[in-house]
This record gives sequence, structure tokens and C-alpha cells, in this order.
Amino acid sequence: MSELIPVRCLEPESPAADSVDLYESRTKIHPRSFTGLYRRLRMQGGAALFLLFFGTAWINWGGRQAVLWDITHRQFSIFGATFWPQDFMLLSALLMIAAFGLFCLTVFAGRVWCGYSCPQSVWTWIFMWAEKVTEGDRNQRIKLDNSPFGANKALRRIYKHLLWLSISLVTAITFVGYFTPIRELFMGLLNLEVGGWAAFWIFFFTAATYINAGWLREQVCFHMCPYGRFQSSMLDANSLVITYDAARGENRGPRKKNAEYQSAGLGDCIDCKMCVQVCPTGIDIRDGLQMQCIGCAACIDACDSIMDKMGYAPGLIRYTSDNALNGGNTRILRPRLVGYTAVLITLIGIFSWTVATRPLLSVDVARDRTLFRFNQENEVENNYVLSVLNKSRESRTYSISVVGLEGLNIRVDDKVNVAPESMLSVPVAVSVSPEMLSERNYDIVFQVYDPEHPEDQSFVESRFIGPSVPVW
Ligand code: SF4
Ligand code: SF4
Repeated sequence: MSELIPVRCLEPESPAADSVDLYESRTKIHPRSFTGLYRRLRMQGGAALFLLFFGTAWINWGGRQAVLWDITHRQFSIFGATFWPQDFMLLSALLMIAAFGLFCLTVFAGRVWCGYSCPQSVWTWIFMWAEKVTEGDRNQRIKLDNSPFGANKALRRIYKHLLWLSISLVTAITFVGYFTPIRELFMGLLNLEVGGWAAFWIFFFTAATYINAGWLREQVCFHMCPYGRFQSSMLDANSLVITYDAARGENRGPRKKNAEYQSAGLGDCIDCKMCVQVCPTGIDIRDGLQMQCIGCAACIDACDSIMDKMGYAPGLIRYTSDNALNGGNTRILRPRLVGYTAVLITLIGIFSWTVATRPLLSVDVARDRTLFRFNQENEVENNYVLSVLNKSRESRTYSISVVGLEGLNIRVDDKVNVAPESMLSVPVAVSVSPEMLSERNYDIVFQVYDPEHPEDQSFVESRFIGPSVPVW
């Protein structure tokens, strides 16, 4: 006999007591401007990145754009070296080198990349500069935010957004210029003759730069960047990280300059909160190492300037390791760092050797769909198309031969003369007398070579197919 299970609806006595709002609205951050050693270093790092980004798109190297991923011609040029889709493994190796370089840097000195060189950080600093130029420093910006809307507020906002959009547009044009020759792109834009795809990508990257560096800022680091998530697992007790020296700073509290404070139980931190006000991610480094810290060292500069004003020693916030902070020594050479460095050096070595010795000839073969035919000499004939890629910067004339079956004849219609850095499709007919065929399938190998450059040769395998039963 079946039994009904009683069901009771559970209503929370008080909805507020039972529900937790998991959404935390963003608090707008108004970072204060500051000066100091690390700001100068960061400016230099940012300037180097800028020069690299804009320079390599605009300068020519060996008669062509220094860095260009030419989608139309399927070539990647970087400082005179040209890579093809066939060199994909080399490009993968280049990415692995960049990744291991970043791992080494992170294990040694924490989030140096994030704070000094990451494009998101660098462009955010530039946008902050634009904000300061148009709306003033921190206090003026807070005042402007809280003021009622009027002509002054509207004008400043318009200037700021125009400046942001201009920087975004220049960034987007340059970025798209890495994939289509930038001079042609620029002239196309001036004459309003730019293609639909180029226009779309310029619009897309302008919007992405404007939104990421202008509006999202630290939210990109918190919620979108995967590197920020996993790099904490690379740090160890010997990694250099930006740390507040709590043993020296606590108890924190205000005091007058030159006042005797130690007897009052105070440490060196005067609780001025300058380290918090300059922080682009709005955190308090005195709460300890946090995932939101991008390692920009702004708090070091700010605190050092306060220490200087107070007549205290600098370094209340500084680069140090967990071990050093606890009275031990920082070990530079440690297994993880040695391991990453060894892998990095090995990858660089393999990459350099492969690039230096890579063949300047690449050949692919495609067999005609027709199984075989009888030609005018009544021979069994198979047809192929060889794609001959000349990677050198001179035109080359290649010879083609075939082996794999006794008595094979090869017929190539034209002289295989391939222009520099070009590919030529070469129709090739291979034939043999039917008496030579005892099986239906034969493995054959094409050899393509330049008699004047014996090091340039390539072997490609294919099949030769004959009738299924002897016809002689
Ligand atoms: S800047 Fe230095 S002194 Fe001021 S609150 Fe931060 S840690 Fe303390
Ligand atoms: S805590 Fe210091 S180092 Fe970290 S993001 Fe803020 S200012 Fe930069």
C-alpha cells in the first residue's frame, strides 16, 4: 500500500536573515598622483612598451614593416625573419619562451609584469594621466563627482572622454596595423577607403581599449585576467613581494613630526593612508598580501615620501620576501627558479638553433583525385600538384625528381622558378610503363632541390596508383 509523504512549504521567517547578497557593487577608485623611484621605473617600463608597440608597427626593418602578421599573404615577419604557417611550431615555441620568461620573473619578484609592463596596467596609467589633465588630481575629481551636473562638469567630462577615445583610436589603428600593412591602412583611413573588416576591428579595439582602461580598470585584473589568478601558486617564501612591515609599523597612529612615539606604544606607521590613496586597485597593503595587489609599488613610493617627511628610515613598505620579513635570509637560487630558468634557456637554445638552421624550402604535395589514366605513350599516369614555398629572399629555380618505382618518368610543364618568399603550385605528371606494375599502390617520394644551393632540398611522400589487375 502506497503512503503519501507530507510536504511542507518552508518560508523564511525573515527574508533578509536568510538571503545573502553575493553581488558587491564596485566602489569607484580615485588614485592620488605621487612621485618616487618606482614610479620613474614604471614610467620607463611603460615608455619602453610604448616604443615597442608603436615603433615596431611603424618602422621598417630590411625593407618591410618590422613586425607584421600579413594575413592576406599568410606570412609573419619579425625583424627581417619571415615565418609561414608551416613554421607554426616555431611560433608556439616563441609563446612558450614568453610564458617561461614570465614564470621566472614571477617566481623571483612577484607580479612585476602586472605592475610595470602589462598593457592593461600601462594603458590604465595613461588613462589616469588623461583624467588628471582634464579633471584634476584626486580631491578635485572626488569633488567633481559629487558636484551637481553643470557646464564645468560637462566640459571636463567631454574633454576626458575625447582624450580617452583618441588614445584608444591610435592604439586600435596600430594594433590592426600588425595584421595589415600599417601605411596602407593609414592612407586608407585618410582617404576613407578602408575595408569593412579593418574598419570593424579598428572599431572593436577602440571600444575594448576605452572600456578596459577607462571604465573597467582594476576589474580586469580581479575578474578577467587568468594570470592574476594562478600566479600566487608560483610564489614561495623567498619570492620578492611588496609587503608592509607590520612589526615596524604597528601600532599605527597619528603623531606630530619629531614627537617621541615609541614610548607611547606607536610604530612607524602614522596611519596617513597615503598608501591606500595611491593604490590603483584601492586596497590597503597593511592588511597583508592580497590577490588584488598588482605589484605596482605605488604604495612604496607614497610611504617612503611620508617616512622621509617624518624623518624615519624608508622601507616600511618594501620589496622583501616572507623569509626576510621573519628574520631569515632570502634564497635567490632555489629549485623552482632554477627549474624554470633551465627550461627557459633550453627553449631559447632550441628555438635559436631551429631558426638558424631551418630549411628555406618547404614542399607539400596534393594528389589528383583521378586514380590514374593512360597517356599518349600508353603509360599509366598519375597527376599531382606540388606547392613549392621559397622562404629565401632570392628567387630560386628548383629541380624535381621522383623515386619509389623503377622506370618512373616525371613531367613538369614549366621551369620551377619561384619568386622570393613566394609559393608556386606546380602541376606534375608521373608515369610508368604498365609492365613495371605488379601491385596497385606504390609509395613514391618527390625530391625538390636547388642545384645551386644543395642545402635547400625537400622530400615529400605520396602514392602512385595503377590498375588493380595487370593490363599487359
Ligand atoms: S603610507 Fe606608510 S605611514 Fe602612511 S598609512 Fe601607509 S604605511 Fe602607514
Ligand atoms: S598594494 Fe601597493 S603594490 Fe599593490 S596594487 Fe596597491 S599600490 Fe600597487
